Amino acid sequence: MKFADLHLHTRFSDGTFSPEELVAQAVKHGLAAIALTDHDTVEGCAIAARECEAAGIGFITGTELTAEHDDTEVHLLGYFLDTRNERLLVEINKFQTVRQQRIHEMVARINELGVPLQLETVFALANCKSPGRPHVARALVKEGLIKSLDEAFERFLKKGRPAWVPKARMSALESIELIHQAGGLAVMAHPGLNRTDEIIPGLVKADLDGIECFHTKHSTAMSERYLEIADQYHLLVTGGSDCHGYSKGKPLIGTVKLPYDHVERMTASVIARRQTARSASSTVG
Ligand code: AMP
Ligand code: ZN
Ligand code: FE
Ligand code: FE
Repeated sequence: MKFADLHLHTRFSDGTFSPEELVAQAVKHGLAAIALTDHDTVEGCAIAARECEAAGIGFITGTELTAEHDDTEVHLLGYFLDTRNERLLVEINKFQTVRQQRIHEMVARINELGVPLQLETVFALANCKSPGRPHVARALVKEGLIKSLDEAFERFLKKGRPAWVPKARMSALESIELIHQAGGLAVMAHPGLNRTDEIIPGLVKADLDGIECFHTKHSTAMSERYLEIADQYHLLVTGGSDCHGYSKGKPLIGTVKLPYDHVERMTASVIARRQTARSASSTVG
């Protein structure tokens, strides 16, 4: 059997592997294909694609966007993106700017609580355009200001805690459209994590392509439930480990195994979507 892992992060967002290290891990785990889904960036895709090609495994470009629908946060995975698509790059640039501003705000709030975390420590540790809460948590641990990443989230960073600052959130409808105009497929990430099944019909109406049925944090029962939902709404089935390298303990790459026939369905679907888009634009003239 051939398997894929379609939810992976690198140092270009909050993972700890370089794209090269990630691909080496994929090879080690015998994966037939991977997708890179860093938060609000496609920067690592070029290197990962090159490494995958050299290693003889399949590569799918991707990103993970934070969106909202009916006041609910939803993460959307974009797959098969044209990583040079202008509108995509403009929008993710805006998300990155907000992420950077948000680090300033989070550190200021942590300082107000009497914890002397330095902004420079966080930015040096993050060393990317798309920094996030895990970088703040890791900087707190590194400086010996707290004991664990969990403590960082529990005391400061979780939603509702004093240093929690929201991210820029595009509407899910706009995010799906942004992904489509960049030639990609839009997939709802880890639905079981947020327990927000009520928004699925609305996303389907907005032309959602797929749903991440297999994920590290999904129980077998959850995966089965989302497979049924995928079937009901004719959605593609995806899956991935959401590996962040050593950012949150042990690397998870390869622990979630998506049977390769789902990758083949995704490929057929993106080809069909692009053909439809092309014939629609040629009809308009
Ligand atoms: P951000 O994109 O900056 O909001 O950060 C989101 C990242 O933080 C994701 O990778 C989450 O898995 C991680 N995260 C969220 N909550 C926690 C938590 N309680 N403990 C550890 N990591 C978390
Ligand atoms: Zn992440
Ligand atoms: Fe996510
Ligand atoms: Fe993720």
